[in-house]
Order: sequence, then C-alpha cells, then structure tokens
Amino acid sequence: MSEFKTVRGMRDFLPKEAQALRYVESKARKVAELYGFGEIVTPIVESYDLLSAKSGDEVRSRMFAFKDLGDRDIALRPEFTASVARLVATTLRNEPRPLRLFSVGSVYRYDEPQKGRYREFWQSNFELMGSSRPEADAEIILLTDSLMKTVGLKSYVFKIGHVGVIRGILSKEKLDEKKQNEIMQLMDHLQYDDALKVVQDAEASETCVKVLRELVNLKGDRIFEVMNKIKECVKDYESATTAAENLQEILKLVTESGCRTHVTVDAGFARGLEYYTGIIFEVTVPELDIALGGGGRYDRLIELFGGNPTSAVGVAHGIDRIMLAMQEQKVTWKTNGTRKVVVVPVRETLKIDALKIAQVLRDAGIVVEVDVMGRKMAKALEDADRRGMDYAIIIGEKELKEDAVVVRNLKKREQSTVKIEKVIENLQA
Ligand code: AMP
Repeated sequence: MSEFKTVRGMRDFLPKEAQALRYVESKARKVAELYGFGEIVTPIVESYDLLSAKSGDEVRSRMFAFKDLGDRDIALRPEFTASVARLVATTLRNEPRPLRLFSVGSVYRYDEPQKGRYREFWQSNFELMGSSRPEADAEIILLTDSLMKTVGLKSYVFKIGHVGVIRGILSKEKLDEKKQNEIMQLMDHLQYDDALKVVQDAEASETCVKVLRELVNLKGDRIFEVMNKIKECVKDYESATTAAENLQEILKLVTESGCRTHVTVDAGFARGLEYYTGIIFEVTVPELDIALGGGGRYDRLIELFGGNPTSAVGVAHGIDRIMLAMQEQKVTWKTNGTRKVVVVPVRETLKIDALKIAQVLRDAGIVVEVDVMGRKMAKALEDADRRGMDYAIIIGEKELKEDAVVVRNLKKREQSTVKIEKVIENLQA
C-alpha cells in the first residue's frame, strides 16, 4: 500500500510550528481586544451562493466548492468577509453602529502551492462597519501596524492606494463597471500596458490615457509630495480628486497620530477583489515578495448581501506569511517560560505515587510529564535531558517513607532530597 500523504497544498503543523501559529493568533487576539473588536466565530462551510456573491471571477474560480449529502452547493470559506457581511445583513442588522468584528481561523483557496502560498492558510480578520469617516480607515491601518510590531517584525512597509482615483477617471469616460474591473484586474497584476490598451480600445479620450499613464507612475515614500502630484494629475476629474483627498486625509491621520511605520503611496495600486470602493493597502517585508496582509474600504458590500447600506473597512492578515517573515527576520519569542518536569518512579510498583505527585504539581500549574515508557532510571534521565526537560522528580521507596522525593536539576546535574510539601516551592524558586 502506498503511504498516505497530505492533500496537495495542505500542511501538517508539528508542535513547534503549531506553537508559532498559535502565538501569532494570540497576538492578533490581543490587538482585537486593545482596539475593541469582538470576536465572532463563523462556519468554515458556507453556501456557495453567499461566498461567490461578491467575489470576482478570480476568487470564485479558486474556491473549494462541492455538494453536501443533501445536494446543497457549499464551499469552504476563501476569506471571512462574506460571513461577516451575512451576519451584518441579518442577525446584526439592528445593532448600533459601529460594529467592530474580529475573526481568526483557516481559509481555503485553490492557489498554486509555493512558498507562502497554500491552499489552507490562516487569517486574522478585522471589520469595522458603519463609519465612512477616514478615522475608521486609519484605525484599520493602525491596528495592522500594531500587529506587525507586536509579533516582533523589525521592518515592514505599508503600500497604500485608493481605487476611487482610477475608477473616478474611468467613470467620467463612461467605462462601465465590468470594463473597469477588467482594467483594475490587469493593474493588480502590474500589467499596466495591457490595462491602458483596454482603456484605449474602449474609446476613452486621449487625455484620459495620458493622465492614467502618468498616474500609474506616481508612487513613493515621500507620501505628501506624491499626493500633491496625484491631485495635480487628476485635477480635471472631480470624483478622482475627492478620492485623492480622502486618501491624503487618511495618510495624515495615520502619520500624525504618531505611527512611525514606513508607508508608500502608489496611485496605480489595485487589489484583485472587485468590491473595494475606497483606500486599499497591503503590508510587505523586504525579504518576501508576497503581502503579509491587505485590506481596504468596501462601502457597498453589505447592501449586496441584502443589508442596510453600511460603510465598511477591513483587513485580513496572513498568519502563515507573518510566521515566514518572523523566520526571515530572525524574530525570537518567548514561550510561556514554565519549567518542564518529568516524574520517574524507580520501580514499577511506585507508578501510582508518580501519577499522584504529578497531579499535585499540575494543580499548582507546573508542566509535568510522567514517564510512561517504563525505562530504567539512567535511560529515563538521558531521554528527559535530550528532550530539554528542566527537572526530574525521582520517586523512590526510601524517600517516600520520609514523605520526600529526589529533585534532580537536569541542566545543572545536581540533585537533592526534598519533602513533598516543599517540592512546588523548590521548583518555582
Ligand atoms: P486577501 O484576502 O487576498 O487580501 O488576502 C489577505 C492576506 O491573506 C494576504 O495578504 C496574505 O497574507 C494571505 N494570503 C492570501 N492568499 C494566501 C495563500 N494562498 N497562502 C497563504 N496566505 C495567503
């Protein structure tokens, strides 16, 4: 029989990796708490119609979709936003605004597997619903900054743009939404020449093509200088100008609130998903050419799900990629720091005592393993040492008679006889 393997694109997380995953997850939870986002837990499986309602063709074609035994069309969530939107359009319809909602968990996309790109991956997702004001956008950027900082990343960059700038120009040229999406899609893949060709073929004016050509080259980290150039470039397009002013205001709020993070503005920046209506942003690190997180504003989404018109801005952070970036930047982090103890009976007949003492120690919060291999003492100690245990508690008859055990410090290779009632104190010293 051939060996079983994980399904292509799926991975196992062994204890060290799982610990890293949970560590980043715990930091995301902490950020959610600090920014007042309440956690919601939604199903991994949703109806295909819900998940495909707002996603563009690209996401739709990469969903894990199938029929359940009741012949329902269902799919594994490719992101959290659709589930959150479903809730906001239904159960949370009449809740006072704003709603600050946080989720964390696995999502599924039939992407081509490679470094940092998997078919099952983990995201932390934040949605702020009910405010169209720039301070809401700023909060989403700032909380993303907090997460990157708190996991210990040393260098990362925000790339920020605004879909309203390019869409504003294309709308004035009477290009319909479908055409605009096609153009944004090409820009998202950095195929600017192809995008401009579509604009030309759609019979947009010469000026429009010229303005767009100039616009997609406006980028850089002298953000307010770039913003002035963008505004100058689109000055004849009213809604593009409003969009540029909105972006400038958000950048002002972010930088003047004291955020020192490296930010670049990119006027030609487009993110794949079609539902964005305002700012869009991504976080990257110099060591990887893939984004660690991305988000933006989508003010029409909730309506699309049948809810009341609700402004919304949100972000999804790729936890796997944050873990990769931490490795690349050699970020070290402390585990809970508790000492690890193994309890070994010197003979078979003492195993009940070993279990009993282990329970007493665990009740005091000490991490304890009981030897379950029935090894000879020397072998058991050698194994504990190999596995990085700190202490061995040796249960022997002679000591037990005096209500004591031997506590061996495996790192210092010293041992002493300690009264059972003093063991906890001794280990915590
Ligand atoms: P998106 O919903 O496409 O904006 O994705 C948000 C974040 O999820 C990205 O910035 C990545 O960090 C992460 N991500 C997206 N696709 C994958 C994937 N296939 N594997 C791992 N992480 C991913």
